[in-house]
Amino acid sequence: MLDLTGKNALVTGIANNRSIAWGIAQQLHKAGANIGVTYLPDDKGRFEKKVGELVDPLNPSIFVPCDVQNEAQITSAFEAIAQKWGRLDILIHCLAFADKEGLTGDFSAIPKAAFTQALEISTYSLVSLTRAAKPLMSQGGSILTLTYLGGVKVIPNYNLMGIAKAGLEMSVRYLASELGPLNIRVNAISAGPIRTLASSAVGGILDMIHHVEKVAPLRRTVTQVEVGNTAAFLCSDLASGITGQIIYVDAGYEIMGM
Ligand code: NDP
Repeated sequence: MLDLTGKNALVTGIANNRSIAWGIAQQLHKAGANIGVTYLPDDKGRFEKKVGELVDPLNPSIFVPCDVQNEAQITSAFEAIAQKWGRLDILIHCLAFADKEGLTGDFSAIPKAAFTQALEISTYSLVSLTRAAKPLMSQGGSILTLTYLGGVKVIPNYNLMGIAKAGLEMSVRYLASELGPLNIRVNAISAGPIRTLASSAVGGILDMIHHVEKVAPLRRTVTQVEVGNTAAFLCSDLASGITGQIIYVDAGYEIMGM
């Protein structure tokens, strides 16, 4: 029943084979979607090569650089989509960044520059990518981002990223309200802690994972593929009535009081 055949899906945020975006891209591809991938470019072209080799089995028909801090790169990425596909159905926003000094220590010590940068990359980028995607979602569409419980409750060391995720979750609601009349749905998955490049920057991430394994109803944390499966569902017609929601894929941890 879950069929994304003929749907064009752009996936951002693949860094390596541990990335949540990689789990999502694989499951969208499995469900039949045409895959486009963006990567964060670096001077020596290493990320382009690394991500290119990883995603090659998915035969991406679009593979373009996109640093979300660079408006010109966003514009040219979506120009490439307009030329190649003419229409976009699915946008996966699966990226975040905060400087280390925002992910440990005293919250009151976070410098302004780190705060601004984290919100620009991790929160505002959903707005700018959505703005670029909107005219291409001419037959409706689905936009999905990734968030974490630390945007709702205090989680030790998540600090600055908690603020970014709180803003991201509210952006999901405002964007869903704006875009609903165009049949563009906007949702977020709130994933349980998973070992990735980004999460390894959060102080004590392994302790967080072990705690979830002890306390969550399913007595474990989740995998990238489980998040990918929920992403495929949310981007499919099976979820046609769901928008503006934060869906927890966290082995049930969020319901626990202790
Ligand atoms: P990854 O490190 O695999 O992915 C983060 C991605 O963000 C990377 O591809 C990174 O690129 C990219 N990125 C950083 N800065 C920019 C930028 N300026 N422009 C474009 N891309 C950028 O980690 P995850 O898979 O864990 O993270 C994906 C999302 O999932 C994030 O939003 C994260 O907060 C969220 N999440 C993660 C959880 C976890 O426990 N892992 C739990 C809940 C939510 P590069 O590496 O090349 O710098």
